[in-house]
Amino acid sequence: MRAMTVHPGRGGSASMGDVPEPASADGTLLVRGRLVGVCGTDREIAEGGYGTAPDGEDLLVLGHEGLGEVVEAPAGSGFEPGDLVVGIVRRPDPVPCPACGAGDWDMCRNGRYTERGIVGRHGYGSELWRLEPEYAIGVPAGLHRLGVLLEPTSVLAKAWEQVDRISARAFFVPGRALVTGAGPIGLMACLLGVQRGYEVHVVDLAADGPKRALVEALGARYHSGDAAGIDIEADVVIECTGVGSVVHAAGQKLTSGGIMCLTGIMSSPPTLDVDATQMNRAMVLRNAVLFGSVNAGRRHWYQAADSLAAADPTWLGGLITRTVPLGDWTQALRREQDDIKVVVDLQG
Ligand SMILES: [Zn+2]
Ligand SMILES: [Zn+2]
Repeated sequence: MRAMTVHPGRGGSASMGDVPEPASADGTLLVRGRLVGVCGTDREIAEGGYGTAPDGEDLLVLGHEGLGEVVEAPAGSGFEPGDLVVGIVRRPDPVPCPACGAGDWDMCRNGRYTERGIVGRHGYGSELWRLEPEYAIGVPAGLHRLGVLLEPTSVLAKAWEQVDRISARAFFVPGRALVTGAGPIGLMACLLGVQRGYEVHVVDLAADGPKRALVEALGARYHSGDAAGIDIEADVVIECTGVGSVVHAAGQKLTSGGIMCLTGIMSSPPTLDVDATQMNRAMVLRNAVLFGSVNAGRRHWYQAADSLAAADPTWLGGLITRTVPLGDWTQALRREQDDIKVVVDLQG
């Protein structure tokens, strides 16, 4: 069958591969792939900077943002042929560590977890794939192809859940949130903030175009330019760029008692020195919380499904700006002007 393949560690190796049908060890659900979203992680793997193939293999099937239609499901699995599903990305480490043992694999302590399409397991970027029923999430009725947005949404559902939990420590006003970056992650951060009742501000370098329109369609405020130039105080900052200077500038916008979540990673070399003494002073005297968040646990996938089901489907559809057929999938790795979320049509 056709698949999106790379040789991890070897830049420029991304190609249309011909691979065996999915192994039964991958799970009892047989799924016909519909769409798979492409993101910065996939680009990093394609450039040779990240990712590992399954043990004993040198090829990795890419794709961790997979949406597909169930073809075969065993009785009692909770799924039936025709159901639309997405697959959870991470699997707990085999030891398991205390966090994985408790079902919180997204908080894995020893880093020995595996991830579909990223670390040690084939992904969802193929015409057919298999999935364990307990790692399948049913797509809410009415979402259809928009279910491909579930994975990136789950990452933000976790980030916002952590903000909610931290904010419960003491008096807190869930008033204003600042989101840095208006890519798919930033726009999802904005949607989930608006759904929580926050006045959300989004800053991005893009002047006009679809990003501004999407932010404003949610009733949020769009600021074009540098984060340092925005004149607001925020109770919550969701940082989605991973750029040191943006992280630094956004941190300065945090109000006393504020909470800042870091979700972005940038692979470019560091260019900014942080004065840890000054940062310590600012955080202690202002009860500030700065935390990082990655991946998502099972409950975050359900939270994400609820958020997407509550959102305007037309707005969600506006996030998917380009669809590339599987036959030309490497085109999805190229960044084009006004791209937000690029998806691969696995039957195309
Ligand atoms: Zn991704
Ligand atoms: Zn673990």
